[in-house]
Amino acid sequence: MHNSKRDVVVIGGGITGLAAAHRLTEAGASVTLLESSDQLGGLGTFFPMGERWVERFYHCIMPSDDHLLGLLDRLGLRDEVDWRRTSMGMVFGEDRYPFNSALDLLRFSPLTLLQRLRFGVVSLLLRHLGRHRDLDRTRTEDWLRDLYGDVIWEKLFVPMFGSKFGAAFADVPALYLWQRLGRESNVATRGYPAGGYKSIIDALHASIEANGGRIHLSTPVGSIAGDEDSMRVTVAGGEVIDCDRVLSTVPLPQLRRLAEPELAERLPTTRLAYQGVVNVLFFLRRPLEGHYWTPVLHSAAEFDGVVEMTELTGEAAYDGRYLAYAMRYTDRGSALFADDDAAIAERWTGQLLRLYAGLPLTREDIAEVRVFKAPFVEPVYPLGYLTRRPPVAVPGTRLLLATTAHVYPDVTSWNSSVGLADSVAGLALATRGAARTPNEV
Ligand SMILES: Cc1cc2nc3c(=O)[nH]c(=O)nc-3n(C[C@H](O)[C@H](O)[C@H](O)COP(=O)(O)OP(=O)(O)OC[C@H]3O[C@@H](n4cnc5c(N)ncnc54)[C@H](O)[C@@H]3O)c2cc1C
Repeated sequence: MHNSKRDVVVIGGGITGLAAAHRLTEAGASVTLLESSDQLGGLGTFFPMGERWVERFYHCIMPSDDHLLGLLDRLGLRDEVDWRRTSMGMVFGEDRYPFNSALDLLRFSPLTLLQRLRFGVVSLLLRHLGRHRDLDRTRTEDWLRDLYGDVIWEKLFVPMFGSKFGAAFADVPALYLWQRLGRESNVATRGYPAGGYKSIIDALHASIEANGGRIHLSTPVGSIAGDEDSMRVTVAGGEVIDCDRVLSTVPLPQLRRLAEPELAERLPTTRLAYQGVVNVLFFLRRPLEGHYWTPVLHSAAEFDGVVEMTELTGEAAYDGRYLAYAMRYTDRGSALFADDDAAIAERWTGQLLRLYAGLPLTREDIAEVRVFKAPFVEPVYPLGYLTRRPPVAVPGTRLLLATTAHVYPDVTSWNSSVGLADSVAGLALATRGAARTPNEV
């Protein structure tokens, strides 16, 4: 690796690191991006299947994803996004329901008629009811229990939010849900890039290098040191890179392990719990029910939702098969996360077969099963996080942070990552050379 002094070293080649490096190199900064794995894309990475590539974790684009769509525009990929209308299902106990129209709600028998009406009316008004309230300091439970009543809270929201955020879900600020409702609805137009997420990652890679940026794969950063004058990054093999700025995109618990003692003292003190995820991909010989998203509530299955990806991509994307992701968000220290992939695949296959037995779905319909895990998906945001959110510029240093801990109150997504990357890269550009560096190149 050539190690002349760089303007910026970007740590992490997920969408945040790539979008930041792209913005910086477009503006003429000399940038080196270091990625520990042998692939770019982070949580958006993929694996080969026949002639195509499949994402390890389900991903889609929403029409309101302005930051991401703006980036795709600049990369010439915006017209490559296929938009489709998608629907939602719901598994409650052993039964499956469509969950899209007023009629679906009226037929949703786990609630009484009065509760169904209350659910419909409150849901229609929820975005409006949240305006002018300090939802960042309001517990999700306090807000929703009040509006929907005890039964709906216990029957629907406890399993839904409990599955996303674990035991601390009731304390997550109601602002998170409010923002999410602004991004998604049951019947929603969703987009998927025609060439898969790999096409976006490849375009960013090519554009960064065309603008003079350097990208190094399989290059884990081992340590970071620095002060208000300059920064130094040491790669795990021992190579050292001096730079004016470091822009780190790795989750904060991982960053703490990389920072040399003096730098570590300046890092944000807020300790955040993070949720990880287990995703099982079922390649099927038949579709399930045709809903993009189906929460799985009060069932014996270990997963808490199913995403039928083929609804968005079409079956040609998987050589004529249908792809369904089953997911469970969980702490990286949980027994499930530590469990053997083959054991998870076997158990969840049995659970999927039981859940959809009535279709009918049989073992012969399952062509292939793959298991992927990610330890850090997003923080479990604590109450009042707007005022506790760590700053992107670490005081007394030339280290900038752009992570999922910084996107709140936006929903964790490629869109919010691109928006954050743009603003943090903009900060690096605005203060370029501001440090007292006598040997600046
Ligand atoms: C199951 C699931 C479903 C999702 N669905 C959607 C969706 O539908 N739409 C959407 O927009 N978003 C979705 N997301 C969210 C989205 O994937 C993330 O918000 C986004 O990818 C975060 O990007 P990032 O670059 O900040 O982090 P990451 O993607 O985690 O990237 C961090 C990178 O840093 C690297 N790294 C770590 N340590 C080091 C080190 N020491 N040295 C060098 N490199 C290092 C990692 O290898 C990784 O590549 C989903 C995520 C999951 C898990």
